[in-house]
Formats: sequence, C-alpha cells, structure tokens
Amino acid sequence: MSSKRVFGFLICLFLISGAVIGQEKSKIVSSLFDEALTNETAYRQLEYLCRNTKGRIPGSAAAAEAVEYTRQALINAGADSVWLQKVPVPHWERGKEGCRIISSVYGPADLSITALGLSVGTSDDGILSNIIEVHDFDELKKLGNKNIEGKIVFFNRPFDNKLINTFAGYGGAVNQRTSGAAEAAKYGALAVLVRSATNALDNFPHTGVTRYQDDVNKIPAVAVSTLDAELLSKYLKSDPLLKIHLISTCRNFPDTWSYNVIGEIKGDSLPGEYITVGGHLDAWDIAEGAHDDGGGCVQAIEMIRLFKKTGIRPKRTIRAVMFMNEEMTGTGGRIYAEEAKKKGEIHYAALESDRGVLSPRGFLFDAEGTRLEKLCALSQYFKPFNIPDFDKGGGGSDIGHLKPMGALQIGYLPEIQRYFYYHHSANDTFEQVNFRELQMGSAAIASLIYLIDKLNL
Ligand SMILES: [Zn+2]
Repeated sequence: MSSKRVFGFLICLFLISGAVIGQEKSKIVSSLFDEALTNETAYRQLEYLCRNTKGRIPGSAAAAEAVEYTRQALINAGADSVWLQKVPVPHWERGKEGCRIISSVYGPADLSITALGLSVGTSDDGILSNIIEVHDFDELKKLGNKNIEGKIVFFNRPFDNKLINTFAGYGGAVNQRTSGAAEAAKYGALAVLVRSATNALDNFPHTGVTRYQDDVNKIPAVAVSTLDAELLSKYLKSDPLLKIHLISTCRNFPDTWSYNVIGEIKGDSLPGEYITVGGHLDAWDIAEGAHDDGGGCVQAIEMIRLFKKTGIRPKRTIRAVMFMNEEMTGTGGRIYAEEAKKKGEIHYAALESDRGVLSPRGFLFDAEGTRLEKLCALSQYFKPFNIPDFDKGGGGSDIGHLKPMGALQIGYLPEIQRYFYYHHSANDTFEQVNFRELQMGSAAIASLIYLIDKLNL
C-alpha cells in the first residue's frame, strides 16, 4: 500500500471508530429513556411527596417527613452512600386569613388572599383601612407620605403577557412581592396587598417570600388572586374611598434546623470530582409542591436509579441533592457549597431542575466559547427525543453557590408556558404532573450528566 493509501485507510478507520463510539453513547442514552419511560418509581415518589408531605415549608413536620422519605428513596435507588446535611432554616407559620372589601357602592366582597412567606401578621382583629392602587415603586414615590400614610397599598402590576419567556414575565412583576412591603412601609403604609405573580387569570392566590429591610418598619404582606385584583381595581375606580378589612395572623418564630438530603454514586476514575444534580425539597405551605419542586427532587433521585439500573459507571462522583429552604432564605444551597469548600471537593458541574416538570425542551449552560459550543452540540443525542433547545443560560439559585468553585452551571429547561399557573399556589398538585413528561425529563437529565462526564465537557 502506498503511504497515501495507508493514510487514507487510517483516516477511514478513525472516522468509523468515532462513529461506533458515538453510536455506543446513543445506545446508552436510548436505554436511559427506555428505562425511565417504563418504570413508575419516580412518579410514585412524587405522588407520595405531594400526598403525604404537602406544605413542607422549612422546619415543618411535613418537611421532616420529606427528608426521611427521600433519604430512603435514595437508598432504594441504589446510591453508594446517603446522608443528611444539617441546615439552619427560618420558622414561619401561617395564621388566620381573610380580606373583605367594604364598599358603599358595591356592598361587601371577600377577596382570595394568602400571606406572603416570612411576612409579619396583623392583630387578631386585623386592619381596617383605605387602600391605594399602585403599579411600581416610582408611582409609590411620587404619591409619597401624604397619599400613602395610614393606608394599605395595593400593588397591581400584571405579567407582561407578550413575553414568550414566562420567567421574564415573572421577573418583571415579582419585585412587588419581594420588596413591596419594605418599599411601601417607607411612606407609612399599614400593609400591602400584592397581585399574585402569575400569568393566569384565576382565583388562586400565589404566595412567595417577601423581604424586609432592617431599618424599615415591618408591615403585613399578602398576595391576592389575579381575578380578585382585577375586581378590586374595578371597584376602586368607582369607589376610591372603599375600605379593606385585612386579617392575616401569620408569625415568625426563632430559626430552627432541617436537612439537605444527599445521595451519591462514587466515581470510577475521578472520585474526587463531583457532579451535583438537584432540586429543592421545601415547598410552600399552601401547595403540594409537585412542579415546585418535588418533581425536580424525584428526577435527581431517578438519575441515581437509572445509572444503577443501566449499569453506567461514571468517572466522577455523581450526587443527587434535595436542597432544603430554597424558597425562604436559600440556606440549603449555601451550606452545601460551604461544606464542599471546607472538604476541598472539586465541583466539576452542577445541574438544577427547578422550572417545573412539564415536557423537556433542553438545557441551559453558563459557559462560553468552545466549551459552550461543545455542550450545545450534545443536542445531537437528544434529537430522537424531540429535545432541541441547548443554549447559553443560567443554572439555579441552589447550585449558584458552587459557581465560584468552578462548577459548570446547568439549568434543566422544560416547557414553561404553564409553569406560573401552578407556581407557589394550591394549584401546584400531583394531578398537574404527567408521567411521561416527568420521565422524559428524568431521562434527559441522566443522559446529559452521563455525556458530560463521559466526554469531559
Ligand atoms: Zn422552586
């Protein structure tokens, strides 16, 4: 054979072996999807969490039950080791709640409300006061003390429904909830009523955390359903002097303790390098926490089961983490990263599933240049499963603490048009999760982690 022909032969051999290796990986990805779509373990785990640990806010008995249940689920999934990591958490309890419009024009009407997390409460008798509608903090500032002092402030800025990215819609509306009470208190407001942060027009009030400022008076904060926000706004136009009787006797108690739940498969050749996959185990007290974020938790547990069942032996140590207290003060993610740092662990990558568990669309990577290109090129393995969106983007708040340690941040991206219909409300139930959508996501996450570890991306 001439040297030219030998060279050609070697090139062919190289291309063929590359294709065979590629086929091998595709076969493993297929086997992960096959197993996920024919086994109900994760779906039933989610059912258990929704039915038996409903309303698992940090520090609650339901949260303790969820910790023990997922610890056992990780053992059953075949994790090499499983343990709990102690996390300080706030202790907040909802009280009696009610809100009535008292109008000489329309007569009385009850509004559907729910206290915001970590809000201070009213007295048992509540607050009876005039109400003033605003849409943003600039408007609040312009109205100033003379118009606001002694009144309840009603924040009524809706989602921008023209935005296709519903997370951007949420981002454009949510500061009323997180900071509205602190801002309104600066002008002497007695309490705030905040339009629920959802693009749905319905009667579910959506809770979520509110944050006070140290040097500002703490006033009660509640969310009102979007339909009732529309009603109240309409009433105010004809009867600006109407009054609101608001009762919300929630309370804050001294901090308490809960746990992150961690399970891992020890790495074969690089056991000192870690890939973390997680969701958050806590859920709002009015919700079953199916989409937010029981689904993300069981997908992480399912990744462990899928690796074990299909015989994948990862190079790196792969962890499933149920983070505690994402919703209130985010201590679970912080403690996990702090302890990892103390132990000198090398965190290679981290993935968070906390955008609900509707049908998978793809993954977001916080990477640049050729690394981003290589990660996005992994979409070829997901073509047969209709999962096309591999793009630049963020991971999630729990894993964000691992970023300064060099961990690649990955966000699981499901379909998001309906997510905020459920988010932080009593509408976030097990019935809103579809078995195939949940498991397509589980398989996609397991496949992505397998590929990133295998290809050293
Ligand atoms: Zn969440």
